[in-house]
Amino acid sequence: MSIVGVDQRETRSGKARLQRVPIPVQSPEQRVSNFLEVNLGYSSQMACEEAARCLQCRQPACVKACPVGVNIPGFLKATATGDFTGALSIIHQDNTLPAICGRVCPQEVQCESVCMLGRKGEPVAIGHLERFVADWEREHHSSQVGQSTSRSTSRKGKVAVVGSGPAGLTAAANLSGLGYEVSIFEALHTPGGVLAYGIPEFRLPKAILAYESRSILEMGVEIRTNTLIGRTLTVNDLFREGFQAVFLGTGAGLPQFLNIPGEDLNGVYTANEFLTRVNLMKAYLYPEVDTPLYLGEHVVVVGGGNTAMDAARTAIRLGSKVTIVYRRSREDLPARREEVLHAQEEGVEFQFLSAPVGISDDGQGWVSAVQCMKMAQGEKRDGGRNSVQPIPGSEYWLTAESIIVAIGQEPNPIIFQTTPELAVGPHGIIGVETGTFKTSKEGVFAAGDVISGGATVIEAMGGGKKAARAIDHYLQRKNS
Ligand code: FAD
Ligand code: SF4
Repeated sequence: MSIVGVDQRETRSGKARLQRVPIPVQSPEQRVSNFLEVNLGYSSQMACEEAARCLQCRQPACVKACPVGVNIPGFLKATATGDFTGALSIIHQDNTLPAICGRVCPQEVQCESVCMLGRKGEPVAIGHLERFVADWEREHHSSQVGQSTSRSTSRKGKVAVVGSGPAGLTAAANLSGLGYEVSIFEALHTPGGVLAYGIPEFRLPKAILAYESRSILEMGVEIRTNTLIGRTLTVNDLFREGFQAVFLGTGAGLPQFLNIPGEDLNGVYTANEFLTRVNLMKAYLYPEVDTPLYLGEHVVVVGGGNTAMDAARTAIRLGSKVTIVYRRSREDLPARREEVLHAQEEGVEFQFLSAPVGISDDGQGWVSAVQCMKMAQGEKRDGGRNSVQPIPGSEYWLTAESIIVAIGQEPNPIIFQTTPELAVGPHGIIGVETGTFKTSKEGVFAAGDVISGGATVIEAMGGGKKAARAIDHYLQRKNS
């Protein structure tokens, strides 16, 4: 396997310390024809060298900038001395899914954004190092050392967790560690939520998700898959089954649509459907597996988030030419910086300040082209992003046999439609009390995308962890 990006520097003194040790990656030419992971990970030597760059600040801003407060200087110090087991046990005190977070957290706007080294050079590669120590430990067959949430022997009561995405898994791990008997109810046949059905193999290998989620289930957490709460059972049924509290971590799996003419044609997919077909139903192996996926030569992906990048890079790997159409500017792209860079390297084309307004058909019910309009940037809104307006008369056509819509998701209504006591805000967001994660229904708590709309893995985990503590307080008070 040819590797690009390995640091060629001979010394790491003085100015060189301002630059991070680059992570080896599969070359773009190679990776567009496979679904293997793009980033190949540090060697032990690279990891020690990169971790040694940490300045060991007395009041580390990076810890505050991590939504679960990982002791970053602590784990970097252990990594720099080659004590990878010790490093992982420090991370595990706050983060139960480090191999996943090291791969998918948007570190450039979290922990790494405030690293002192970033002022004059490049911040410490915290994400790459978190991934390294978790991978090293897994590859060396060690047990899950130092899990802060290790199982308590006495059981305080029964708690139901609905959904097995990062919010549900983290809540379950923490509740189990606090001494509760926890059962997870998951609609799909496999745990992980977006980590399983959304994020592709080339960013997050399924084996890594399986390993880290298994380590939680092995703490004594029961999981009932293929169980849709709101259909198979209701929230009230869970209380009738003897659960004393219910945690909702059901995410935001309902895709939004463009609402433009032609959206019902064959060849228009939501990113959710497209990625689920590829990830969970292995459509990329057709005809060896019986899930077909017709894309054609030209694919247009609409949107600028991680979901759009994942859809575009998946379509490239399936052999199509891909154009991303995004209504705002490059600077506004919400996707992780690395994913945008990798998409560009792989040949994805970007059309910024452009939005689709109609889809034409080939006369047989299939997509043949998408009509777009150029957008003009207006004033900044409330110090945030610039407003955008269509430019009259700027319409143009892009040839496309398929269109993948990746413009956002909101919570599926099934839970609140069958649990009328739950207060729900705009776009199906379940309302919770700040800090306690209590919903308007007694004994029901919620966190993750279902209370925020599409956010990040680590924010969902942070919410799951805090909600678990709130459930513990609630049950201790109730049962005392
Ligand atoms: P989810 O991960 O959505 O999990 C919810 C789970 O609940 C699912 O398993 C679902 O099947 C189950 N469920 C739903 N309803 C029911 C029900 N009624 N009964 C039983 N089970 C139910 N974030 C990042 O930080 N970095 C990234 O690189 C990144 N990339 C992304 C790529 C894609 C394609 C997408 C879609 C999102 C991405 N995100 C990323 C966002 C991130 O994945 C989410 O913010 C995160 O997964 C939210 O976690 P959650 O546990 O709240 O919900
Ligand atoms: Fe950074 Fe995410 Fe790790 Fe926290 S969990 S230290 S934000 S990579």
